[in-house]
Amino acid sequence: MTTLTDYTVASVSSEVPMSSIAREMRNEFADAAWQERHAVTRVDQLCEWMGGNADGSLMRDIELGLARAPMAMRITPYVLNLIDWSNFLQDPIRKQFIPVGSEILPSHPLLKMDSLHERESSPVDGLVHRYQDKALLLATDRCPVYCRFCTRSYSVGLDTSSVSKKRPPPFQSRWDTILAYLRATPVIVDVVVSGGDCFRLKPSRLLAVGMTLLSIPSIRRVRFATKGLAVLPMKVTSDHEWTDALVKISDAGRNQGVEISFHTHFNHPGEITDYTIAAAELLFKRGIRMRNQSVLMAGVNDDPEVMKQLVKKLSDLHIQPYYVYTCDPVAGIEHMRCSVKQACQIEKAVRGITAGYNTPLFIVDTPGGGGKRDVHSFEHYDSQAGIAVYRAPSVRPDQLFIYPDPLQSLSSDAQAAWLDPQRANHILSDAVEAAREKSMAV
Ligand SMILES: *Cc1c(COP(=O)(O)O)cnc(C)c1O
Ligand code: SF4
Repeated sequence: MTTLTDYTVASVSSEVPMSSIAREMRNEFADAAWQERHAVTRVDQLCEWMGGNADGSLMRDIELGLARAPMAMRITPYVLNLIDWSNFLQDPIRKQFIPVGSEILPSHPLLKMDSLHERESSPVDGLVHRYQDKALLLATDRCPVYCRFCTRSYSVGLDTSSVSKKRPPPFQSRWDTILAYLRATPVIVDVVVSGGDCFRLKPSRLLAVGMTLLSIPSIRRVRFATKGLAVLPMKVTSDHEWTDALVKISDAGRNQGVEISFHTHFNHPGEITDYTIAAAELLFKRGIRMRNQSVLMAGVNDDPEVMKQLVKKLSDLHIQPYYVYTCDPVAGIEHMRCSVKQACQIEKAVRGITAGYNTPLFIVDTPGGGGKRDVHSFEHYDSQAGIAVYRAPSVRPDQLFIYPDPLQSLSSDAQAAWLDPQRANHILSDAVEAAREKSMAV
């Protein structure tokens, strides 16, 4: 049986051809290790960064936000540098990473931790097997930054004052069980390596994970999902060992007819900089297939013009815009969620501006474990009550799945209805009945 230690990076060429931009940026800021060492995780460090802009009441507001957030804070200097500090509260980058107590709204009454029921669909620790032919591998619980809207705030990142995380056993012990499961389950042909984030895997481990997956004959496709390119693009241009490991996996895959791809996570066109261009250029030249998954968030990218720009810029970098997810209902981010109606409207504005294959599918990852559904494909949607009902015939055929619009998008009467348990039950049963009638009529 292949183990992690069978592969080492020593066998990888350290010669990475660098683009001219990357060569010019060989300073501290362009060094991923420096960025990691200087990641900001505490409010006092943030104060230092803000310098003259750090006013006391704002800092207390951030402390309050962190105390109520399910995610610890971690931001690279690179991302801090993208924030417009003179417009801190409205800044679309800030909103993704730094909570502010005063903006947090009460959660929707339907909210649950682990709303996607990932732990329920885990046959072995660290692997989610929800769909028939594909599985999600949680390779690490660490990320280069922590996003407030993270679905996996039940497990990713450090404990916070509101959530103590379920810590998985160490990777090495989980890995053997995961591999045994993948080998014994040849129906799985597609593996997503996520986490956590593969940017936090050491090159040797990344290589071992990739090569070992490639040694399983039934696996035809492997994706590495990472926020890294969006928040630490200099890793690609400065950590040659890591990039070599990725390229080596990609080349080995291509040679044996297996597609290796790299899934990025950009949410706003302002996240695309010269560093990103240099990194994406390098990965493209070295034959890495790239796709992007975004999360639709109020005040970040819920504007058709912003979304169009993002789609165009990613397309230019040969990063195919693949998905735009509506925000999963996660504690502390209710104010960032958008309604199904809004998601449908933005999708309509975006479709047609560029190549169809560069037009993202707007999806709802249905709470309750139905998996991803096209946002337009609801069986029933009542935008007044703020409730959409989906079916997932290929995942759980007998169940209906509900996505609630954020309360603040509703009239005050509809909000009051959700907060009254009896009326909320009526909304739910009415919507379910309407969905049943409509799907029977088809
Ligand atoms: C998102 C996801 C996948 C991959 O789904 P695609 O629609 O192919 O991108 C696989 N497994 C789980 C559990 C997922 O959440
Ligand atoms: S990088 Fe991904 S897994 Fe990590 S906190 Fe952000 S959304 Fe969650």
